[in-house]
Parts: sequence; C-alpha cells; structure tokens
Amino acid sequence: MNKPKIDTRIQEERLNVLVHNLPSSLLGTIGVGILMFYIVIDTVFRVNALLWIAAVLFLSLLRAIHTYILIRYKKGQYLKDEKYILLGIFLSGPLLASSLLVIFPPNNLTLQVLIFFLLSLMIAGAVSVYSTHITAFLAYTLPIIFSFLYATSSLPDMLALIFIVGLAYYTILLVSMFKVHKSITNFIKTQYLNRDLADNLSSAKEELELSNNELKLENSVRKQTEKRLYHLANYDPLTGLANRQMFKENLKRSIHSSKDNATTLALLFLDLDNFKIINDTLGHAMGDKLLIAAASRLKSLLNDNSSISRLGGDEFVIIMNEIEDGRDVVALADSIIKLLEKPFSFNENEMFIGTSIGISLYPNDTSNTETLLSYADTAMYSAKDKGKNNYQFFSAKMFETIEFRHKVETKLHHAISNNEFRIQYQPKIDTITQSIIGAEALLRWDNEDLGTISPSVFIPIAEESSLINIIGEWVITKVCEDLSYLKNSFSNDLCISVNVSASQILHQNLPLILQKNLNKHSLANTSIELEFTENMLIKQGQKTLQVLETLDQMGINLSIDDFGTGYSSLSYLKTLPIHTLKIDKSLIADTPHCEGDCAIAKTIISLAHNLNLTVVAEGVETAEQLNFLRSNGCHIIQGFYFHKP
Ligand code: C2E
Ligand code: CA
Ligand code: CA
Repeated sequence: MNKPKIDTRIQEERLNVLVHNLPSSLLGTIGVGILMFYIVIDTVFRVNALLWIAAVLFLSLLRAIHTYILIRYKKGQYLKDEKYILLGIFLSGPLLASSLLVIFPPNNLTLQVLIFFLLSLMIAGAVSVYSTHITAFLAYTLPIIFSFLYATSSLPDMLALIFIVGLAYYTILLVSMFKVHKSITNFIKTQYLNRDLADNLSSAKEELELSNNELKLENSVRKQTEKRLYHLANYDPLTGLANRQMFKENLKRSIHSSKDNATTLALLFLDLDNFKIINDTLGHAMGDKLLIAAASRLKSLLNDNSSISRLGGDEFVIIMNEIEDGRDVVALADSIIKLLEKPFSFNENEMFIGTSIGISLYPNDTSNTETLLSYADTAMYSAKDKGKNNYQFFSAKMFETIEFRHKVETKLHHAISNNEFRIQYQPKIDTITQSIIGAEALLRWDNEDLGTISPSVFIPIAEESSLINIIGEWVITKVCEDLSYLKNSFSNDLCISVNVSASQILHQNLPLILQKNLNKHSLANTSIELEFTENMLIKQGQKTLQVLETLDQMGINLSIDDFGTGYSSLSYLKTLPIHTLKIDKSLIADTPHCEGDCAIAKTIISLAHNLNLTVVAEGVETAEQLNFLRSNGCHIIQGFYFHKP
C-alpha cells in the first residue's frame, strides 16, 4: 500500500483542524460584524454601513456554504481546496478591517475604542482558529493590523497609545501563535509517526501471519508431496507392495541385523507361471487384477518376520528373517505354491497360475546382497526348468543349467531357418487288431553345437518365448506334408497326433492354420489329432474352450496327454469336447506290479469307457504291460514295446 508522505499528511491534518474551526470563526465574524453594524449605524453614513454588513454577511454565507460542502463531502481531503479556503479567509480579514475606513465613527471615541476592541478580539480568536495554519492566520490578521495603522495615523495621541499597546499585544500573540503552531505540528507529526509505526507494526504482523500461514500451507503441501513421492518411489502402485527400491533397502537392513544377531535369512524369488499367457490373451486389465489378487494372497501368508516386495512384472521377493532351519522356508514355499495354485476367478474367467520359487540363504550361500538376489533368481529359473510350480534351493550347479538354457534359447532362434528340426513318428497300435492305426509326431532338434536335444528340454524354453508358435506351426506344416506322402502307403485312414502347447491355442489361430495345411494337401480333417496336456486345458478357461469347440466342429480329434498327472476335476472333463484320454507313461511304467498304479490305470480306463472316450496308453515297454492294459480294455498302445519313435 502506498502511503502519502508524512509532510503532506501533516499539511492535510492542519488543514483539517482549520476547516473544523471555520464554523466558529464564521459565527464570530458574523456576530462581530452585526455588533459593529449595530453600534455604528446611527453615527455613520447609513448606506456605507448597510453595504458593509451586506458584504460581510454575503462573504460569510459563501464561506459557510463552502465550509459545509468541505466538511460534508470532502471528508478530510482538503488539500485541493486549500486555495479557496485561504481566499475566503484572506477576503474576510480585509473586509473586517475595512470597518475602520468605511464605518469608523469619526467623532465618537467610545465607539472607536469599542471597534478596536472588537477587532482585537477577532485577532485573539484567530490565534486559536488558525493556530494550525500560519498563512491563514497572517492572511486574516495582517489586513486588520494594517488598517489599524492607517486608522490610528490620523487619530489623537490617546488612541495611538492604545494602538501601540495593541501592536505589542499582537506581536506577543504572533509569537505564541508560532509556538502553538509548532507544538501542534509536532504533535500531529508524532501522532502520525506513532500511527505509522503502529500501522507498520500491524501490517508487519499481518504480513508475518500471512507468510506464516503460507509457510504452514507450503509445509503441509510439501509434506504431502514428499509423502506421495516417497510412496511412488518406494511402493508398487498396482499392488501396494514395496517396490524394487524399497526391497533393496529392506534386504540391506535384514542382512545387517542377520549379521549382528548371527541368524540366517532366506530370500524367496517368486515368478508366476503362465502369467505372460494370461496377460497377453485376456488383456492387461485382467493381468493387473490377477497380480493384485496374487499379491494379496501372498501377503496373507506372511508374518512379522517376513516382508514381500514386487520386483516388477510377475516377480515377487520375500525376505524371511531369523529362520530357525530350512523347514521354515520349505513350509512357506509349500504354502505359497498351494495358495497360488487355487484358481482365480474374475467375472466369468477362471484362471489358473502357479509359482516357481527360487530360494537363497544368507550367509550360507553368500554374504553379498546383490549376489543373494541373483542366486534366488537362478534357483527360480531352475524351478521353472523342473516343470514349474515348485521351489528350488540355490546350488552352484544351477549356473551350468542356466548357461545351457541361455545357449539353447539363442540357438533355437535359428533352428527353423537352419533346417535343424525333423519329426519322428511313433506308431500307435490297436490293442485288438495289433495294427498301426496312427502315430504321434515327436519333434527332434539336431544342432551343430549342442547335438540332438530332447523336446523335453527345448520345448519348455521355446514356450517361455513366442518361439513355440513358430515351431508349432512348422510341425503342423511338416506333419501335413508327410501325411500327404504317407496316405499313399497306408490303405486305412491314418491319424497323426500332434502335440500342442498352451500358447498355440491362445496366441495363434490354430483352427485356421490346421485347415489351411489340411486343405493344401487335400487331407481329411480327421487325419489330425491334437494332444493337449491336462493342466493346459483346465487352466486357461473360456478362450481355450472356444478354440477346442471350433476344432471339434472341424472334426479334429482332441486328446488329453499325460492324463493322470495333473489335477483336473472329473466334472470339468465332461464339459470339454475331447475324444481321447492318454494315460501318462509314468503311470504305465510300474504296471502290472505296482498295485497303486494299476488301480489308477484301471480307473482311467473305466472312466474313459464311461465317458465314451478312446483310451491310449503311452510308454508301454513290456508284454506284461501290454497284456495288463489290453485285458483292462485299453484301446490303443504306444511305446517302445512295439516301436520307438
Ligand atoms: P509326450 O507327448 O508325452 O511324448 C511322449 C514321449 O515319450 C516322447 O518323448 C517319446 O519319445 C517317449 N516315449 C515313447 N515311448 C516310450 C516308451 O516306451 N518308454 C519311454 N520311457 N518313453 C517313451 P520325447 O520325444 O522326448 O518328447 C518329450 C515331450 O516333448 C513330449 O512328451 C511332448 O510333450 C513334447 N513334444 C515333443 N514333440 C513336440 C511338439 O512337436 N510340440 C510340442 N508342443 N511338444 C512336443
Ligand atoms: Ca504327446
Ligand atoms: Ca505323454
């Protein structure tokens, strides 16, 4: 705020006092004027007296109106009107003084003295009225003094004496007037300074309060922002779990206290199985829901001694502090696997995932923070290799596996273009007629560096990337080509089984690829059978079912491979459009000696009969196995007993 300068304000204040004194001054002027007119009217020239009093009254009236306007409307802002105010005062003084010329009774000493007296009274009054304004005082009183001078010059000694006394009196008045003026000015000044000081103080206080409040606000905004930034920097926005950054700090802290207390710490590295497939096929929104649900299941398993973080994607880590022995860790790993195995359902979709867990121990495996994590990661890969949905403790041997795995993946990329794949067919025999009714296509990979690698090794690696789709399509193309060649050699309708991976159902237009290749060689749709694993079928829900139904409508045979090793519910089996159950070779291996396996095999066979499905046994190596299976009603046999692939 801009304040006027102090001098201007003092000037204003003086004028203010002056204006407020004007009404009484005017009243005095009018009163004295009328009194003088009254006492002289009979002794002087009447017209002169009338004109004089008229002038006095007229001027007083004008000034009164002006004063009224000032007080009423200008409200203390009189600086601009100062000259008019002074003009009024300046005219009043001479007008009063003119009485000594115009209506001064020539031969009446009493009246003359009385007039002097009245004018002196006006001068005395002016001291108090104009005390704040020297110019006004002088403008008012000097003309009176000068007219005194003039009037007394022609008067007798007596009057001259009175005049001299009056002049001395005026001088004293003038001096005291200056003093009064000075002290009033000082008073006003001090008042203003004090007021300014108070103003400054209070505005400083206000400003202080304002900036204090701003500071408080800023503080709370800053705190909130800091909190949010901290949260963003340390927590995963999706699951609310600690993120990689926070995990690193937690791990450092945990290792520190493990060291101090000489305790053991376990790091569990979790990677969800099949998450990529779900995320890619059902969409990221579904993938996100799954991650949130999986995270909350995981959290429910932990106690105060453990903490969980999400490293990114479908990777989680758990720090287990102060473990007593390996059994604690095994128990937790087991319960994680069991809990995440249970289906997740969102809307219509039921999803199955699993977890592969790698475990490293501090200080047993390493005392380095970074290494501890990389060991757990290595162990996790080993768990994936071992068929997923299991846990592995880190061991140094795993490095070789990892390295090998990496090599396989690199080489796989060039396998098709280098023509390194071929297919072996393993015949399938009808147990009654003992004739070949078809064959299973088994992929082989011969690599210059790695030699011949088993599909059990490279298929899971191919499944981790999208390579499996390219490879799978190659197999279908090749099988159809071979079939068109074979159909000339076989009189009956030969059916070739092709193994299919989950990703092929979800990512590829499998029916279209099949139809295209079958048509190309004019093959009947019934000449291809597809083998899916049990887990793959029950795990992937709606989309899988749709594809299976399309394939079924096309007349393609659908078979469940490795049956008896998964955990499919029998009721679910009924809803699938499948035609064949293939008993897993691990269940055949110990028949007919192992009672349990025999019971399972028999149950599967009778289940197949009840559901009106064809039942195949794979991995049949002995005549005993063949006899056992045949006598229990198994329709088809596949295995080394008859033919190697
Ligand atoms: P699978 O579908 O269960 O195939 C049967 C496996 O058992 C084959 O192993 C076969 O060589 C082997 N086998 C056949 N008869 C006997 C026997 O009497 N005793 C024993 N011990 N084993 C026997 P292979 O060829 O190593 O294939 C391993 C797995 O690789 C297959 O298991 C299948 O899951 C997968 N696979 C093979 N080819 C393909 C393919 O083209 N695509 C996909 N997605 N997977 C394939
Ligand atoms: Ca198979
Ligand atoms: Ca099998």
